[in-house]
Amino acid sequence: MTAPLYLDAAATSAVRREVLEAMWPYLTGDFGNPSSHHGYGESAARALADARATVAAWLGCRASEVVFTSGGTEADNLALKGIALGAVAADPDRGRHIVTTPIEHEAVLASVDYLVRRHGFEATMVPVGRDGLVDPADFSAALRPGTTLASVMLANNEVGTVQPVAELARIAHDNGTPLHTDAVQAAGWLPLDVRALGVDALSVSGHKLGAPKGIGALFVRSRLPLEPVLHGGGQERGRRSGTENVAGAVALATAARLSMAGQERAAAAAAAARDAFIAAVLTEAPDAQLTGHPAARLPGTASFVFPGTNGEAVLLELERRGIVSSSGSACAAGSEEASHVLLALGYDEELARTAVRFSWGSEVTAGQLAAVAPAVGEAVRTVRGLAG
Ligand code: PLP
Repeated sequence: MTAPLYLDAAATSAVRREVLEAMWPYLTGDFGNPSSHHGYGESAARALADARATVAAWLGCRASEVVFTSGGTEADNLALKGIALGAVAADPDRGRHIVTTPIEHEAVLASVDYLVRRHGFEATMVPVGRDGLVDPADFSAALRPGTTLASVMLANNEVGTVQPVAELARIAHDNGTPLHTDAVQAAGWLPLDVRALGVDALSVSGHKLGAPKGIGALFVRSRLPLEPVLHGGGQERGRRSGTENVAGAVALATAARLSMAGQERAAAAAAAARDAFIAAVLTEAPDAQLTGHPAARLPGTASFVFPGTNGEAVLLELERRGIVSSSGSACAAGSEEASHVLLALGYDEELARTAVRFSWGSEVTAGQLAAVAPAVGEAVRTVRGLAG
């Protein structure tokens, strides 16, 4: 039996062989603690410094502005709580107001909710259109004098819409407000130059681009006050205590380096294959609707609603045909709730429950994708009871 075609890359990806080979020495022979004052420790510290320099080159920032974390969730938590509470600690008279969107990942939304419940912040949710885009005018209107922090994701994990983050950063800065962006899904597809984006903080996660689960990073602009979330031995310049995940950092750096090589070409090829796939799905299942923005979207994501079906049932039919995908965001998998993203885009609950997301890495070919569309049509017809 051949392995199913994996079209759930937005949930996680396999560790790339080169990544595994690069991290292996730091799990075995060179296993030292970077804080130790002997050869093992020095070797680990050197590897960590090299990994930090590579991640900094990837993000276009200084090495000192990179904080390694346990993943995207922690990076988002540190950004939201760290910057909001850091601002209040630096200036207790400053307002407590956060601007974000209702389509952020739960790591951002739940951190905002925590700041509201426990620290007296107010939050303003900027509405998004049916295409998932934030209108810069709405974003501007949501800011207040002294707004502490704004957070808008670079690309959405469910519908793939890519936000005009550079423009939003300019608007935020005109208001004196720092902007954080969650780039977990954009990583590997889009350039993440933080100076070009103009952002003050940016989150990435290794397991979306060929590094293992449990490693990520947060870029935080130097001199932006950051209150730590994890307290302890003072690693990561006091911003994130805990013995560093040296092998993980090496893995993230290696995955980042690999993703940078030929990224533009890979993204263009994937976008062309994506558009052909979208057209083919809409032919095979004529009343399906593409969710998210038709053009401003990730090259490796296509998500649909299939009226008159149930997303989970379509997934099962697809898996029977050798295709693995997802009915919503991975982190909410298993829950029967309709996607908060699709509800925020204006879909009703019933239609939102018919959503299926296909997401892939650059290793998936246009030919493989083309072969999926007829299977989607069959799966949808089967679920509707129209096919045998
Ligand atoms: N942010 C986004 C947009 C994501 O898609 C995810 C994971 O799905 C995360 C954050 C969380 O990252 P991690 O799984 O590394 O905690």
